[in-house]
Amino acid sequence: MNTHKHAFNIILTVLFLIFAQLGAQKKFVIVLDAGHGGSDVGATRKYENIGLVQEKDVTLGIVLKLGRMLEKNKDYKIIYTRKIDEYPSLADRTDLANRSHADLFISVHCNASTKSTPYGTETYVQGPDQNKTNLEVAKRENDVIFLDDKDRERFASYDPTSPESLIALRIQQSKYLESSLIFGGYVEENFVKKDKRYSRGVMQKNLHVLRLNAMPSVLIETGFISNAEEAAYLASDKGQDEIAESIYDAITSYKKRIDRNQKKIVEEPKELPLKNDFRILLMSTPNKYAVGDPALKGLNYILTIKENGLYKYYYSVTNFASIKENNLKTAKDAGFRNVTAVSFIPNQDMNTGYYRLEVYTGKDKLPSSSPILKLLKDVERVKANGIFYYTYGNVKSLEAATKLQKDLEEKGITNTTIEKVYK
Ligand SMILES: [Zn+2]
Repeated sequence: MNTHKHAFNIILTVLFLIFAQLGAQKKFVIVLDAGHGGSDVGATRKYENIGLVQEKDVTLGIVLKLGRMLEKNKDYKIIYTRKIDEYPSLADRTDLANRSHADLFISVHCNASTKSTPYGTETYVQGPDQNKTNLEVAKRENDVIFLDDKDRERFASYDPTSPESLIALRIQQSKYLESSLIFGGYVEENFVKKDKRYSRGVMQKNLHVLRLNAMPSVLIETGFISNAEEAAYLASDKGQDEIAESIYDAITSYKKRIDRNQKKIVEEPKELPLKNDFRILLMSTPNKYAVGDPALKGLNYILTIKENGLYKYYYSVTNFASIKENNLKTAKDAGFRNVTAVSFIPNQDMNTGYYRLEVYTGKDKLPSSSPILKLLKDVERVKANGIFYYTYGNVKSLEAATKLQKDLEEKGITNTTIEKVYK
């Protein structure tokens, strides 16, 4: 008897849960990557007082401590590339981060040198290698690729010195570089201010574990295992706690900054389009220039309109004021001094005249075998100052004229010029 009511209640509950889910803010997803693991021990040293210190243990220790702190905050979703002593390939780590649409990727490592004196922290962000001094880091962190077939397939054929790779790298890099640098800056700042450590800085490096990540990413070298004092610190609970806390605080600062920026973007009013189109008039001259002529100073998107015997060259078109200003600047930078923005009313018909296309100009008459004469009917010819002008068409608007121009191009008749004819 009560079953209907019961079912209705269930539906209500389900609906409520769905909406509650939709209303909930998207969590800030952080991928924590404990460097190395399993058979890949990373940097390792044996000391008389503290015994064996292995990078893979230190990185896991720090990451687990950091993760426990972050998991208390409901705004964060934490994903681990490993929580135990195992080796996920570098490709697996990147794939996991990309699949999870992570907002931040943090790879934790320890440094090592052939000498025992170097010490301090470094944070790396993805980018072309800055200098030769840190080749050791790239070599050590990248070398592990030879442990895994999938990684070898993905990374080994990659030549970081090829121009294509560099371009891809720069595009990738420019997208996340700024955020990565900001976060890296917070990390290193905390190491110095809170933990009284020595920071060797934030640097750019071409590292496989960061290279294919589609999110801000850093690799933190938390200290030198090859330095006795720092190795003891890295292996200790106190050291790992401090490092985890400094990274935690860096995440908090970074998240605050992002939230602030996003709020600003939402609050900024969107630019509204203008009613008219604007083209930049570069010059008005009796000379006819074809696309690519040096007189056009390398600018593309040129529209030529012949008017009263003069060719007017217009650069670009937009109905946004800010873009119009940009276009003016581009034209000036290209070397056109007296440029003006000219307003065009879209789709406006000419009352006192019409548009046609100048399909050919030259000293010689077109032969009857010319494709222009063969393909087009009613081509008109006039001679002025020893030059033959051939024109075609009769349309009312600039839009119709550009369409006609395109139609002719498809027939193979190129380099035509739109002409405005006044009655
Ligand atoms: Zn490492």
